[in-house]
Amino acid sequence: MGLRLEIDLDKITHNARTLVNRLSEEGIAVTGVTKATLGSPEIAEAWMRAGVRGLGDSRIENIGRMRASGISASMTLIRTPMMSQVDEVVELCDVSFNTELEVMRKLSVAAKKRDRVHGVMLMVELGDLREGIMPALLVKTVREVLRLPNLVFMGIGTNLACRSGVSPDRHNMAKLSALADEIDATFGPIVTSISGGNSANLEWALSGADTGRVDDLRLGEALLLGCEPLNRQPIKGLHCDAIRLVGEVIEVKTKPSKPWGRIAQSAFGEVAIGRDRGPITQAILAIGRQDADPEGLVPPRGLEILAASSDHLVVDGTRYRGSLKVGTEIPFQLNYSALLSAMTSPFVSTMIITPQARLHAKRL
Ligand SMILES: *Cc1c(COP(=O)(O)O)cnc(C)c1O
Repeated sequence: MGLRLEIDLDKITHNARTLVNRLSEEGIAVTGVTKATLGSPEIAEAWMRAGVRGLGDSRIENIGRMRASGISASMTLIRTPMMSQVDEVVELCDVSFNTELEVMRKLSVAAKKRDRVHGVMLMVELGDLREGIMPALLVKTVREVLRLPNLVFMGIGTNLACRSGVSPDRHNMAKLSALADEIDATFGPIVTSISGGNSANLEWALSGADTGRVDDLRLGEALLLGCEPLNRQPIKGLHCDAIRLVGEVIEVKTKPSKPWGRIAQSAFGEVAIGRDRGPITQAILAIGRQDADPEGLVPPRGLEILAASSDHLVVDGTRYRGSLKVGTEIPFQLNYSALLSAMTSPFVSTMIITPQARLHAKRL
């Protein structure tokens, strides 16, 4: 069957339902972020059944794919639209996240042309230094947006822990609520939603802290991988193996662990001398950097990843208890980086695991 991502929809649904329920106790709804799945309609539908409020993606192509497969859920573009794509954005999305007035003017024209109403959320910069309007300029920007026909100002949002690793906490989240208060005090009650952030907000949201006016989180990684991204720790009660990368062994040999000859840089620039551990059972899997970020692969117990090149993953299987022969399939857990790279690699197929297929997968 070759190199593939196996996606267990039951586990994905469980993860989503668990977080939807926990967050609803805090008055927070979940927007399911589909970008790491390339807008998989199956996963999107599973999340909708699990109770997410709507779907969000950073790529208009992914949103187009979900629309084309008949998904009618509320769809939010969570990256500032490209000026060249405003027509598609208005056509396919109910809402977009915005930071640039020039773009919003174009969205307004595009929406008017289609006799549509398009929702606008304004992203606010709270320190991570990626997208967002500086807080001091927010009210002024809202005033401009309110003048634009066929756009509806819906609220504000922020995104932390992505570019600089700035963690969501009581202070920056309270600031977001305070900014919403300021907008409402200026224009009347017009802030209907506050999107507090991504999976990195879960620790804050579930800590019992006052979540203020935040009523929405945009979750991808936590739903898919059962993991919170600040410390990459599993979230209690969630599955971390809902998605696995299954690769095939193409060579197994007993080899020395220490290379010989004059040592320079390897193909990817590292100096690849590990410690000498004597002769080992070295196996090669047909998985390379063209398939998935090797740093983000977690092998089963007893297997250790030694090196990766474009097409080969070299592992030490000396202590592996399972079968390790040419043709053996080995499942790896993935972090977000490995998942993104594998999902977008043309060499990796995706397979949705059904109950029959689960029996087969169990034996791996
Ligand atoms: C990717 C993304 C998310 C989801 O992040 P996760 O860490 O996968 O939960 C949320 N918001 C924005 C703006 C994003 O780009």
